[in-house]
Amino acid sequence: MAAPRAPTPIALTIAGSDSSGGAGIQADLKTFTALGVYGASVITAITAQNTQGVQDVLGLPPAIITAQIASIAADLAVGAIKTGMLADRTTVATVADGLANFPGVPLVVDPVMVATSGDVLLAPDAIDAVRARLFPIATVVTPNLREAAKLLDAPVAADEDEMEAQGRRLLALGAKAVLVKGGHGPGPHATDILVLDTGSLRFTRPRIATRNTHGTGCTLAAAIAAELARGASLPSAVAAAKAYVWAAIEAGRTLGVGHGNGPVDHLHAIRRQ
Ligand code: PLP
Repeated sequence: MAAPRAPTPIALTIAGSDSSGGAGIQADLKTFTALGVYGASVITAITAQNTQGVQDVLGLPPAIITAQIASIAADLAVGAIKTGMLADRTTVATVADGLANFPGVPLVVDPVMVATSGDVLLAPDAIDAVRARLFPIATVVTPNLREAAKLLDAPVAADEDEMEAQGRRLLALGAKAVLVKGGHGPGPHATDILVLDTGSLRFTRPRIATRNTHGTGCTLAAAIAAELARGASLPSAVAAAKAYVWAAIEAGRTLGVGHGNGPVDHLHAIRRQ
């Protein structure tokens, strides 16, 4: 007999903690909440971090990561999962093993590698494990320009056609879809390209002049997972997530948190009430 559906959609984030609250687990839970989804979390690593950089990182032992995943799997009807910072190859393998507890649940893989501040969040020798263990089970993988290049061992895409070509090469690694994010590119517009088996879709928004973009990638992936947990199709989930993140970046211009690259305003809609 199928498990009864939870009355509220549930999304799970498997990611690192950002002590400053702008990225990682904290960003994901705020995003889930803002989008009307109940959020659960499995913490893979703890960062001592603020808007100026990452001061320290502690990866959690595999056993406690496995135990957290088992606790959720035993009790919560998870509707979608997002992975973020996975620190090293052992953690990638541990999380990939744990994800076998959630067959058929949509999975958003944010291949987090390096923070905006330049701090490394995934050991370089773990990139192989992300490709081999997470791509084949991902509903969508969400690399930014630099992450796509690292995953392919290729130069950073110089234009939208190159972005799409890289997305197609990444799709061949086994993901059902790839969203190549152009937020770090030049020009007055930011375009993300969703590459699917059946074609591709481009999502374009005017670029916002701000340095407060800390946690943007985490937030977008979490928003996609929230929408998938609510039953949206992938293209609708990406469109809604992009609109949410754009509004959060816009509102984050005046949030006034920290002295460096501040966070986006995840709760802009609630704060306005
Ligand atoms: N810290 C943690 C724990 C993260 O998961 C991430 C995001 O991917 C970051 C920091 C990076 O944040 P940003 O590059 O947006 O500053």
